[in-house]
Amino acid sequence: MTDKLKEYCGVVAVHNHPQAATLSYLGLHQLQHRGQESSGIVASEGKHLRVHRAMGLVAEIFTEDVLKKLPGSIAIGHNRYSTTGNSALENAQPLTVDCNKGMIALAHNGNLVNADSIRGWLEAQGSIFQTTSDTEVIVHLIARSKERDVPEAICDALRRIEGAFSLVIMTRDRVFAVRDPRGFRPLCMGRIRNGGGPGVDTIVFASETCAFDIMGATYEREVKAGEMVVAGPEGVSSRFFSPESRQANCIFEHVYFSRPDSVIFGRAVSTSREAMGRQLAREAPAPADIVVPVPDSGVTAALGYAFESGLTFSFGLIRNHYVGRTFIEPEQHIRDFGVKLKLNPVHSVLAGKRVVLIDDSIVRGTTSRKIVRMVRDAGATEVHVRISCPPTISPCYYGVDTPRKDQLIAANKTVEEIRDYIGADSLAYLSIRGMREACGEGAEPNYCVSCYTGIYPSEFIPVDQIQRMEASEKKL
Ligand code: SF4
Repeated sequence: MTDKLKEYCGVVAVHNHPQAATLSYLGLHQLQHRGQESSGIVASEGKHLRVHRAMGLVAEIFTEDVLKKLPGSIAIGHNRYSTTGNSALENAQPLTVDCNKGMIALAHNGNLVNADSIRGWLEAQGSIFQTTSDTEVIVHLIARSKERDVPEAICDALRRIEGAFSLVIMTRDRVFAVRDPRGFRPLCMGRIRNGGGPGVDTIVFASETCAFDIMGATYEREVKAGEMVVAGPEGVSSRFFSPESRQANCIFEHVYFSRPDSVIFGRAVSTSREAMGRQLAREAPAPADIVVPVPDSGVTAALGYAFESGLTFSFGLIRNHYVGRTFIEPEQHIRDFGVKLKLNPVHSVLAGKRVVLIDDSIVRGTTSRKIVRMVRDAGATEVHVRISCPPTISPCYYGVDTPRKDQLIAANKTVEEIRDYIGADSLAYLSIRGMREACGEGAEPNYCVSCYTGIYPSEFIPVDQIQRMEASEKKL
């Protein structure tokens, strides 16, 4: 079941809480869907930065003993899924550095498009890199900045990098939260009220607001594109390190990545997903008896489709949430074993029914083909597949792990050819306009839809990334 675009990373930060590391741990646990390869927390009690990073899941890494070794009222944390750099402990974040500006820790969600050229330049100047991650160039740029003041040095570094970056940075007594000028990735700010007044409340930041609920924090606002918010002893302040650019919030966050109980880009994800399902029902009705989601991410769009079409919503597929990363396949081959491990059909729901199957994407098409077969084998008489976003035809350069173009089925086949390949009776996708409207976009475009159009922001050509991808394609 790997036929999905991969989540990238999740970040959290806490300022002014006696158990900052524990609060970060809780937040990271809620953001586990944004990265499952490694996790880390850095905490400060005002004098030292202490760090713990390891490979694996948040609940496995952070025991009570580990958290006790991370004392202090300030912390930042990170869940990693590698979009650049190897999946290795050396690349686990937050990264820390002890430099002429003092101790600094940094956690990054996104992908820098000019990291290779900056790295080459820094190495030519004598910088020695500890990781293969694009994030390390930011740490080097901060350390090398001629600005002596830390906030100025951070802004100096931020003006040199390009791409998608939602960052949380900490020093011994401050937390900085930053979003790139186009706002590709989300970053939200919340507050735990301790009585008001500057520097009294606990300020928290997280990739998604679902992290705030368990922390007991209230969502306050988004960190704006091009903004740096600083939480310090004197309270919260804000400045912009970059002039305003056209916004390019990643629409795939609303389609698939973010949890439906989150608010991102100032809008509830569940509202967008339900609206996508409703719009899909208007654009692509199907002659069917029941609406069945591919769980879990297809559920909210399927509800919208059912509400709009008047068809009955049914859980015809059940997901097993307890499948580990590796599983031993029996010696005797079982057809579609991987999908069957994760999904099981409800025969009593599907038998004899004409089914509208709602999913949020088709990437390579291999999994969709197996799921359609599974639904048919359970007795469905017709299977009409509806996808709650447009065909994915182009890779992402802004922090999402997409296959090469030649592996994206919609880049190489027509909708009718895809229908034939996955074995559905009919297939339809949501239109780009319908998706934009469902995500609340008004007259002024504010979403990135590049993986659906193949058109990238013109003044934002990801040269390094394109070269890297072309090189990897040539090797194959
Ligand atoms: Fe998101 Fe697609 Fe844009 Fe990447 S290209 S930022 S996945 S909308």
